Amino acid sequence: MFQEIYSPVQKLEIDPFNNLFVKRDDLIDPYVSGNKWRKLKYILKKASLENKNHLVTFGGAYSNHLVATAAASARFGLNSTAFVRGEEVRNEMLLLCSLFGMKLIFVDRESYKNKPLLFKEHFGDDTNTYFIDEGGASKEAVTGCAEIISELNETYDHIFVAAGTGTTAAGLLSAIQTRNLPSKLHVIPVLKGGDFIKDEMAKYVKLSDHLILHTDYHFGGYAKTNSELIHFIKSFTAKTGLLTDPVYTAKMFYAINDLQQKKSINSTDKILAIHTGGLLGILGMRDKF
Ligand SMILES: *Cc1c(COP(=O)(O)O)cnc(C)c1O
Repeated sequence: MFQEIYSPVQKLEIDPFNNLFVKRDDLIDPYVSGNKWRKLKYILKKASLENKNHLVTFGGAYSNHLVATAAASARFGLNSTAFVRGEEVRNEMLLLCSLFGMKLIFVDRESYKNKPLLFKEHFGDDTNTYFIDEGGASKEAVTGCAEIISELNETYDHIFVAAGTGTTAAGLLSAIQTRNLPSKLHVIPVLKGGDFIKDEMAKYVKLSDHLILHTDYHFGGYAKTNSELIHFIKSFTAKTGLLTDPVYTAKMFYAINDLQQKKSINSTDKILAIHTGGLLGILGMRDKF
C-alpha cells in the first residue's frame, strides 16, 4: 500500500540556466502529484493506523490538494469529503474530485474560516473520519517532504521551492539541517506578503541561515500572473519540454532565472529546483494564455 516512490533528478540544458537540475516530483503521479503525495504519505499512514476510513479536508475550487486527496482516497479504499471555499462552481479540478468519489460541500468564505467547527458540525460524532487541514499542512506532511532531500545522491549549492503554506519548505529545511548539507534553501512564496512563511515554517523546524526567502516573485498574489510571467512560461516550456504552472512552479523558475541574471547566484553554482507538480490546473487557464 505504501510502497516507496522516488522521483528522478534531471539536468536542464537550457540557456541562460547554468547547472540547473530538476527534481521531477511532478512525475510521481498525474493526480496525487508532486508535493501533494509527499504531504499525504504519512497522513494516510496515520489515518490507517487509527482505523479511519474517511478523509475530510478543505480547499479552494482549484486546489491540487483536493484532487490529490480524492485520488489517494480512492486508491486506498477510503471515502473522502471536501469542504470547498465559496459558492458552488463546476470546473475540471472538481470534476476529477467527484470522479474519484469525493463528496463536495460548498461553504461560504466566512464559515470556511473555522475548519475545526465545520468538521465538528458535520462529522463530530463519526469516529471513522480523519481531519486533514487545508493543503495537508501537518507534521506528517513535513516528514514526507523531508524525504525529497534524503533521495538526493548529489549535493547542491542551492535548492529552490515554491511555497503556499511553507509546509514543503519546512520539510526540506529540516532535512538539510539534520543532514548537515551546505545547501541554501531558497523559498519563493507565491502569495503577497510572503514573510509569514517564516512563521509557518518555524512551527515545524528551527530556522537557520540555510533559509533564504524571496518575497518579490508573487506577481501580484496567489494565482495572479502578468504578461511577463506568461511569456516566461511559454518560452521555458517550448525550450525544455517541462510544463510549469503559473500558480507555483513558474514563479520559482522565473526567480531562479532572475537571480542568475542579476548574478545573485554564481553561474557555476549547482542548483536544484523542486518541481512540485500541480499541472492539472493549467487546463482550466486557457484564458490566461
Ligand atoms: C500546494 C503546492 C505548493 C505549495 O506547497 P506548500 O507546502 O503549501 O508550501 C507548491 N507547488 C505546487 C505545485 C503545489 O500544488
